[in-house]
Amino acid sequence: MQVMYKYFTTLFFMLFSFFQISNAQTEEVKSDKFEKLRVSKQLLNDIKNANGVLWIGPHCDDELAATGLLLLASRKYNKDTYVFTFLHKPSMEGSTLSNEEKMKVRIKDNEEFKEFIGLKDYIRFAPEGFSGLEEYTSYSEKYKAFFPAMKKYIIKNNIDFIISFDSIQGWNEHPEHPIFGREVQKYFKKFEDDENYNFSHYCVLNANWRFSHVIPPTTDTDFIYLDDVKVEMTNGNTISLWEGYKEVFNIYKESLFILGKYYNNWDEFSNQTIHKELYEKIKYKR
Ligand SMILES: [Zn+2]
Repeated sequence: MQVMYKYFTTLFFMLFSFFQISNAQTEEVKSDKFEKLRVSKQLLNDIKNANGVLWIGPHCDDELAATGLLLLASRKYNKDTYVFTFLHKPSMEGSTLSNEEKMKVRIKDNEEFKEFIGLKDYIRFAPEGFSGLEEYTSYSEKYKAFFPAMKKYIIKNNIDFIISFDSIQGWNEHPEHPIFGREVQKYFKKFEDDENYNFSHYCVLNANWRFSHVIPPTTDTDFIYLDDVKVEMTNGNTISLWEGYKEVFNIYKESLFILGKYYNNWDEFSNQTIHKELYEKIKYKR
């Protein structure tokens, strides 16, 4: 029975994924099929109880995948909010800028993002001797010094709410996202065991912008409704989290050019994209 159940569940999600992809362009945004899935509502409670909130990603622009949650944590719940990632120059295909100039653009973007979200800090980690312009020879080489440095940082800043990519699909623009998602989960399992450190760890399940595609959740899932949730900014304006995304796209427009690449303008993008972030809580031993 158990086996049959598993089989049908797997089949259901395979069909569900296929359905999701094949119909993505025609019926994605208005559809509320995800509402039928379980919603734990755990995430907001966990944020409210958190001391510090941290996004961890392999590239210094990946935090865009969790912009809604970061804005919410920082602006609405007034939490100390951080990004911890790697120093990388953006690829910026077709650009005539030198690598050093590209790097300057990226750092300027990150600093503007930090200011806009109200981050307490934005860390671009680089192993010793690494300027961010070179390629790493392997992921293991890249991650070696990162995790111990991140652990120290988490303990020092009393961070207890972690957000990362999921370990299956990740943000599917880059193969490293799920690989890094898996490494983060492995590391945090050990971290929790070794230090008896308590934290909430959530993975963002959204997989890309283009087809409003998300990984069909198989477990308790939290939604952040980006149009419905409003936050107050430093200038006194109140904006929705989705309007926050618009600002962030504007900040990163030179180095990411997502809009120019896939869409003609913001309205077109906005009409074809899911205005939700989905999060799954990682269960460790507790
Ligand atoms: Zn990335």
